[in-house]
Order: sequence, then structure tokens, then C-alpha cells
Amino acid sequence: MSSGPTHTAPAVLISEVGPRDGLQSVKSTMPTADKLRWIDALHAAGLREIEVASFVPARLLPQMADAADVVRHAVQLPGLAVMALVPNRKGAQAALEAGAHKLTMPVSASHAHSLANVRKTPTEMVEEVRAIAQLRTELAPGAGLEVGISTAFGCTLQGLVPEDDVIRLAVQCVEAGADDVGLSDTVGHANPAQVRRLFRRLRTEIGGHAGAAHMHNTRGLGIANCLAAWDEGVRTFDASLGGLGGCPYAPGASGNVVTEDLVFMFEAMGVATGIDIPRLVAARAPLMAGLPGEPVYGMTAEAGLPLGFVPGTSLQA
Ligand code: ZN
Repeated sequence: MSSGPTHTAPAVLISEVGPRDGLQSVKSTMPTADKLRWIDALHAAGLREIEVASFVPARLLPQMADAADVVRHAVQLPGLAVMALVPNRKGAQAALEAGAHKLTMPVSASHAHSLANVRKTPTEMVEEVRAIAQLRTELAPGAGLEVGISTAFGCTLQGLVPEDDVIRLAVQCVEAGADDVGLSDTVGHANPAQVRRLFRRLRTEIGGHAGAAHMHNTRGLGIANCLAAWDEGVRTFDASLGGLGGCPYAPGASGNVVTEDLVFMFEAMGVATGIDIPRLVAARAPLMAGLPGEPVYGMTAEAGLPLGFVPGTSLQA
């Protein structure tokens, strides 16, 4: 076997968040046609879950003004789970009407970040989760509803975030109707020991509802934190092509963990992702064409694949 797509069933789900997390945090707006080309290229590389847009008022995030058009395009791609970020009921309704398969809600464990990001307290956001769960049952009972606990590992506005606050909030979100609840290192404060501790507690408290790890690379620990989460049984990871990303309401936040590097890590470990690395690297072309001058990050795309690399196989000398 040489290089090429892996045929083993994926053992891990890489959820691409660049078209949402990435694009909302760069100043320029990617034209819709470029977004669609980029999403098509990500799908062609084997990604099967993409967070394609955020349903927020266009006056707050003009980069996301075409959210409904982007969703309507993405749902035509075979086998793709199309995810949309929704901060409130209005956004959830628009996303479901456009045909999104899955909604994701940011619920911040930091009071200060919650007010800055969605102008609601964490407790008010749990009530929003309950209302959206209800709306989902009425409009699209087959759609998924996931919550990402933002600033779960620390906050640029509040500083330390008590682990008890994070876990309590996760339990409340499940009780309010979320299918799964993941943990987000929105501003890159996390370390692997903390990631292990918090995901272990999360699994103890909410079992099979424990969701994705969403790591940022602000201090270079994104990949190490993903590996720590993997060791604790996490099997869904958010990542962003070229490491685009951040948070417009969290000063100092920088890019997500780089999809290319994360996929390389898993494939090199013998963990199948279903993603073809050369095609994934090729998906940078439409990204860069749509955002001229915007820096992209990542080591794998620069270094290339090691000689003799076989995807999905942990090679032994
Ligand atoms: Zn993020």
C-alpha cells in the first residue's frame, strides 16, 4: 500500500471548524463562492463533519451574513454532517430552516466571557439551550444539538475558571436537552494534565453525552492537549485548516489546532481519520484564494509527509 485515502473505518472524527471559527475571527470577509469551493475541497479530502457558519446578526459578524446560503450548499455534499453555531433561538430557527444537521451552542463557563460573547449569564444560556432543544423537537427532531463549554480551561477576562463551574454547567446543559457537551479551550490556557482531569470528570458526570475537544494553539499546546483528550477517551476533535481561528470577544485568542497536523498525528499513530492528507493540504488553495494575504499555519503542510509514510499505520522499524 502506498499513499492515498485510508480504507479503514475512521476511529476518530475530525470536525473542521475553519469556515466558522476561522472566518469569524479574521478581519476580511471571504466571498461566498470561495467559501463554497473551500467547503467542497474539505469534503473531497474526506472530512465528514464541518461547522460551516454561525447564525448571528450580520451587523455583529458580517463574515457570516451568507450563513443560510452556505448551509444550503453544504447539505448537498454526500455523507457530510453540516453543523452551524447558534447563540440563540432566532439563530437556531434560521439554521434549522436552512437544513443544518447539527446545531452547536457556545455556553461559557466564565461569567465575564459569557456576557461579552452573548450578553447573557451562563445560567441564562442554559435556559437558551432548553428553549432550543424544544425548538429542535418541533422543527427538526432528527437534528443534533451539541454544546461546547467555552473558556472551560481559563479565560482572558476572568482568569482561572473553577473546574466545578465547568462540570456543573455541562450537567445542566445535558439536563436542558443537549445531546452532547464538549469542552473548549477558547483562549489557549489549557495544559495536558488539566485536559485529562477535566475530560475524566466530564465522562464520570455525563457519560456518553461527553463530547468534543476544541483546542486552540495560542501557546503551542493544542496538539498535546488533543492527545491528552484522546487518552481520556475523547473521539471527536475540532480543528481548523491552516490554524485559522480565535474569538472576536476573547482578547488574545488565536488559532485553532491545525487540522493538517492533527490528522497527521492520528494517522501516524495508526488511528484512521478517513481523511487524505495530500487532498487536505490541497484544500488550503481555495482558503488562501478567498482570503488573500491572511496567514495560514501548520507544520505538516510545510514539511510534507515523511518518506515511507503509510496513513493509518503505526510504523515499526
Ligand atoms: Zn474556538
